[in-house]
Amino acid sequence: RAKAAGGNRYEVADPEADARAITRHGLTTALPAALERGEFFIEYQPLVHLDDGTVHGAEALVRWSHPQHGVLGPDRFIPLAEHTGLIVPLGRWVLEQSVRQAMFWQRQLPEGALGGPLRINVNLSPTQLHHPGLVADTVEVLERIGLPPGALCLEVTESALIGADEDLLKPLRQLAEMGVDIALDDFGTGYSNLANLRRLPVSVLKLDRSFTQGMQQHPADPVDLKIVEGIVALAHSLELAVTVEGVETGAQAEHLRRLGCDTAQGWYYARPGPPEQLHMLSLADAV
Ligand code: C2E
Ligand code: MG
Ligand code: MG
Ligand code: MG
Repeated sequence: RAKAAGGNRYEVADPEADARAITRHGLTTALPAALERGEFFIEYQPLVHLDDGTVHGAEALVRWSHPQHGVLGPDRFIPLAEHTGLIVPLGRWVLEQSVRQAMFWQRQLPEGALGGPLRINVNLSPTQLHHPGLVADTVEVLERIGLPPGALCLEVTESALIGADEDLLKPLRQLAEMGVDIALDDFGTGYSNLANLRRLPVSVLKLDRSFTQGMQQHPADPVDLKIVEGIVALAHSLELAVTVEGVETGAQAEHLRRLGCDTAQGWYYARPGPPEQLHMLSLADAV
């Protein structure tokens, strides 16, 4: 029928979906060369202590500076890299850059300016978690660069650990025993069994942004306040630290501080940015 219409006209149900699929395919095939050509870069978003606002560390967030499409966020290409397995070398690159950056901060920033040694958070996706080289690669990078394992926090999403068996948890357990922190990212979105938390080698709960959204309005949603209060109590009773993501207003920050959350991250403090942003913030702490 499309042919009968003549020329090179095609009948496409959803031309936009088609265009997206084409882009997806193009991006997927371009990934390996992009890594070789150095088209990826990392932005760092500060994490601050809620009680006094001092810098605790930063989360490394990868971006792709694509020659045609401009800067692409991780949601555009991480799933593709997961699918093809390129996430393993890409993740190794992110880890190495981030550990180097953290080492630089530890050496360069004035003693005491950060209220303790600066930490770096790096995201791990499920394929990286399943990769047999994870522990060896991580140890190798930390040792070669000289960063203490306690300065590294690996973020794993709650959904990646749902139903995880001992085989999957073993590498995380090994890393945790060496002193690396493991954070449960996007906590509260994965419907995991709270009792299950005891079984996981995690030391940090990272509350999903959806919880803090109800605290943006005045008055704050009382149910959201109660839920977060309960989660914080549970986390602290299991000796887990609580971080919140997506803090966009001072009112949210104040609620979260009063509810006993430990650290926070969000546009209210700083957007993800170049590493120099952290220098400015931590120097501001010092005065
Ligand atoms: P995530 O780990 O949950 O990271 C937090 C996301 O929230 C980031 O999006 C960050 O820019 C955004 N964000 C921070 N503060 C605010 C705020 O106040 N309001 C709002 N609306 N958003 C805020 P981004 O950079 O687009 O990253 C998206 C996801 O991509 C990350 O979610 C993480 O799961 C993944 N990702 C990023 N870098 C890496 C990486 O190196 N490796 C892997 N495997 N995944 C990564
Ligand atoms: Mg994260
Ligand atoms: Mg998160
Ligand atoms: Mg999130």
